[in-house]
Amino acid sequence: MKKHDFNPESLMMTYGYKPELSEGAIKCPIFQTSTFVFKTAEEGKAFFELAYGIREKSPKEELGLIYSRINNPNLEILENRLSLWDKADGCAVFESGMSAISTVLLEFLSPGDLLVYSNPLYGGTNHFIHHFLDKIGVHTLGIMPNQDVNEVVQMIQDSGKANKLAMIYLETPANPTNHIVDIKKFSQIAKQFESEDRKPLLAVDNTYMGPLWQHPLQCGADIVLYSATKYIGGHSDLIAGAVLGNAELMTRVKTLRTFLGNMVSPHTAWLLLRSLETLKVRMDQQTKNAQRIADYLSTHPKIKQVYYLGLLKEGTEDYMVFKKQCSAPGAMISFDIRGGEKEAFLFLNNLKLLKLAVSLGGTESLAEHPKTMTHAGVDEEQRCQMNITDSLIRLSIGVESADDLIWDLEQALEKVSKI
Ligand SMILES: *Cc1c(COP(=O)(O)O)cnc(C)c1O
Repeated sequence: MKKHDFNPESLMMTYGYKPELSEGAIKCPIFQTSTFVFKTAEEGKAFFELAYGIREKSPKEELGLIYSRINNPNLEILENRLSLWDKADGCAVFESGMSAISTVLLEFLSPGDLLVYSNPLYGGTNHFIHHFLDKIGVHTLGIMPNQDVNEVVQMIQDSGKANKLAMIYLETPANPTNHIVDIKKFSQIAKQFESEDRKPLLAVDNTYMGPLWQHPLQCGADIVLYSATKYIGGHSDLIAGAVLGNAELMTRVKTLRTFLGNMVSPHTAWLLLRSLETLKVRMDQQTKNAQRIADYLSTHPKIKQVYYLGLLKEGTEDYMVFKKQCSAPGAMISFDIRGGEKEAFLFLNNLKLLKLAVSLGGTESLAEHPKTMTHAGVDEEQRCQMNITDSLIRLSIGVESADDLIWDLEQALEKVSKI
């Protein structure tokens, strides 16, 4: 027989778990423990030498279990399984998406450095950049949707801080407008500003598309970040985050995590292991539903425009980027309803099956009003530039029957006419 590599979805039930270490249990138990017993003092000494980088690991040696802030079987198995989707060397899981993001920014940026980031960004990330990184003297430069790559290079040069460029941080597709950015092109920009003593990193928040539909590391990114609260958790019952990248970068991220102590708990890691078993079937169904719903919305007379990757017109630049870096259009749809806030709110208040809530990627479908909810903190002028207006509504599509979802959208849109 020829050698065969299993697909990640086939490995989500078993990979990295050894039943013989847990009384033969088919499922990995929750290792709800703070500390681990060493067999001998010599063993404890050896583990600490590795954990603290006092000496190099010998070829066959593995870091043993020490203390749950440093390592824990639930976290390690989860990290190994998550690494499969993005084909990453390593992964670190965090107690939230924001703690994953802020830990990466803190580890790789120092006062005086330049951070270039795409707009719009997740509100929490935007806040951290403007209210924390600014305060500690990190220079920041935001780029707008549709800004030409040459223009971005010019902006970096004009900033006078080009030799201090430490990181380019992207979110694509952007929340809530589904605007996409060419990851490969930005990895080339990062390379362009490389010097002997400095290598700018490209980090991508892949929450909207990952880990199934887009693999930034394969497009030239150095670091990929997730709010695991969204698709990875997938059931709207936990908060968690993850960072993936090469071994060298992950050692740095995990070291800072050890000292910030913002790792995920064993129980949450165990819930995420359970979620990963159905990740592909959930996400496949979600994107299938979303395409049907986007098609339906795009023909509705009360809707002005639908923003969905599955509706991009062939031949456009966005379509080419989408085809190059995504394998499916995802399950996030936004659209402009005809009218303004009043019409948008009437629609939202009349939904029966879709729930009115922020967050995304879960099994249940959600609807929200970005301007007054998730993006309420964004500067009004920027919001306009990014098309986050009174009439914009964002949907996260779940695994329900698409017929039922369309019925619900239809009846809620019908109510809008009665004003
Ligand atoms: C939700 C979200 C985050 C923040 O994640 P938390 O788990 O809520 O901390 C970051 N980025 C994106 C794109 C998100 O949707």
